[in-house]
Amino acid sequence: MSEDKANNFIRSFVDEDLASGRYSKVVTRFPPEPNGYLHIGHAKSVCLNFGLAIDYGGRCNLRFDDTNPVKEDVEYVDSIQEDVRWLGFSWDDRLFYASDYFEKLYECALQLIKSGHAYVCELSAEKVKEYRGTLTEAGRNSPYRDRPIAESLDLFQRMRAGEFAEGAKFLRAKISMASPNLNMRDPALFRIRKATHHRTGDKWLIYPMYDYAHCISDAIEGVTFSICTLEFEDHRPLYDWVLEKLNWPEPRPRQIEFARLNLEGALMSKRQLLRLVQEKRVDGWDDPRLPTLAALRRRGIPPEAIRLFCERIGVAKKDSWIEYEWLEKAIRDTLNPQVKRVLAVLDPLKVTLKDWPEDEVRTIRAPYFPDDPERMGERELKLTREIFIERDDFSLEPEPDFYRLAPGREVRLRWSLYIQCQEVILGPDGQPLELICTHSEEPALPKQGKRRPAIIHWASANLSRPVTARLYESLFLVNRPTGDFDQELNPRSLVERPNCRLEPALTDLKEGERFQFERLGYFYLEKAPNGSSPAVFNRVVTLKDSWAKSKKK
Ligand code: ATP
Ligand code: MG
Repeated sequence: MSEDKANNFIRSFVDEDLASGRYSKVVTRFPPEPNGYLHIGHAKSVCLNFGLAIDYGGRCNLRFDDTNPVKEDVEYVDSIQEDVRWLGFSWDDRLFYASDYFEKLYECALQLIKSGHAYVCELSAEKVKEYRGTLTEAGRNSPYRDRPIAESLDLFQRMRAGEFAEGAKFLRAKISMASPNLNMRDPALFRIRKATHHRTGDKWLIYPMYDYAHCISDAIEGVTFSICTLEFEDHRPLYDWVLEKLNWPEPRPRQIEFARLNLEGALMSKRQLLRLVQEKRVDGWDDPRLPTLAALRRRGIPPEAIRLFCERIGVAKKDSWIEYEWLEKAIRDTLNPQVKRVLAVLDPLKVTLKDWPEDEVRTIRAPYFPDDPERMGERELKLTREIFIERDDFSLEPEPDFYRLAPGREVRLRWSLYIQCQEVILGPDGQPLELICTHSEEPALPKQGKRRPAIIHWASANLSRPVTARLYESLFLVNRPTGDFDQELNPRSLVERPNCRLEPALTDLKEGERFQFERLGYFYLEKAPNGSSPAVFNRVVTLKDSWAKSKKK
């Protein structure tokens, strides 16, 4: 067991409950509401719930908490299943919906009314608020609280039959309006909603509230550990109350809360994500700049990296913010041993080797994985008279700490020879258009200080292939975006480079392949070349922490 796992406080609870005999197996569930796409915060919960079940030889159910027909949609139901599968987890045949239990939830409500633990209330939303009291002040009893059981039963059945308007009546628990816990002040259990549900259609005109549906759904499925985020800590007494008043047989599920993931630079509220999509600030739910799993997948992040990230951040009881670098580090650590190193130029600057014969092509064999050349084999690079180098690797007026190519200076081409810059041809804008260089097999110029010439990447001008690269930065300029998109969105979050050049050996590109473009980052082939349209590569992550640079602190 890794250290992170050993430190997970939830595991101590599980161990305790298994040792005491309270439970004989571990049953968890992942309970998304199908009102949006899953994001990396959900991944933490998925990894935790499915991970626990796997480690303890138990099971984890996928259950859609589909109790609010107004915001839910099958598009989300489908995407959530795809995302959980993609993350590497399986619920086998245990795909459930809270809506499967609507009838049972209704019967339980009848039972609570009959035992005097629930009543039909007719206060308006406004009045309910007024009667609820505050954190420091007790609430007041609803005038309907003591109505006869028979009357509540009758009204509740007629609510189901659709006799009343939305908001006219609702079913509430009879607990205590004086409870210091606001969740216990006669919370709502069922409300009237004349909406079409994505699964039950128009069958139901009343819908259960989340807190009420959740504990019963867990209990129906024999869940032992109902793991949720911290904001539900104050709801736990209600969770337990409902099952107790229903005399639900033991062992009942145990609710355990953990701190949700807050990731710097990422907006994770579904409401805000929906806004970004609806206001077309991004290109759909899977825009590679979003923290949704669909987006991370499209960006090219492998699911192992997300699992590694979730394992590393661990599970705590206290809210905290995780720096984005943690995710980037997990991605690099995952990709580093897996992918080939190749040469590509993102922003080409033409170089002519004036002392190189016009038609001569030098073939150079170079390993795909220099640290372990055996593992991934080698390929051929082609050196020609005209090549491209990265525009950034040249400076007309180099700063003192710039050691790459400049007028009169020398660099080495990766896997190949040395070049010396003899002349710079400027374009009408005063920017370099082309460099005229000479070459040599060994360094030809005196060293700059003690340094050996820098090594830069390159591509043959005529023996390379054009590709498009999409380079991403954080979608936001601030670490903790508030949703003020006009102020906070980063105008450079997506930069498309349509004129990149890729070394010629990679002829059979397949969608989904990943490479390291040396010195530039890890890239993922989102679209294979098709007819005249070039391959499109997404930069998954840079090689170094790019985060600090792009932030206004
Ligand atoms: P909302 O309830 O506002 O729609 P939600 O993010 O809680 O949003 P759910 O679909 O209810 O959405 O979440 C499913 C599960 O994922 C819940 O158990 C929830 O606690 C968990 N979860 C959601 N966000 C995070 C997060 N940032 N970190 C960890 N777990 C999360
Ligand atoms: Mg929720």
